[in-house]
Amino acid sequence: MCDCIKRIEKEIREKFHELCHECGDVKTIEAHFENLYFDTEDNWKTKFSLPIKVEYQRKTKKGAIQTRHKTLDMQAKYCPFCGKPYKEENGNE
Ligand SMILES: [Zn+2]
Repeated sequence: MCDCIKRIEKEIREKFHELCHECGDVKTIEAHFENLYFDTEDNWKTKFSLPIKVEYQRKTKKGAIQTRHKTLDMQAKYCPFCGKPYKEENGNE
């Protein structure tokens, strides 16, 4: 698996001052992607997830139509930066 997540977070920490012209003289301590998850079926590797907001309607017990929202997380199978598959091909997938 590639090291894009850690590498890019490190690059952002190092280059933050160039990206943020109004920040002045600051020291960057942390930079983390927020949409990551641990893949428990692949040795707890850290991978990207893509949140998608779904709006749906359902009928209540009294028969009224109710609109609801839910956010689902889609798990990425490929790195969005380098395009390499997160899980090595084993011929079964
Ligand atoms: Zn990558």
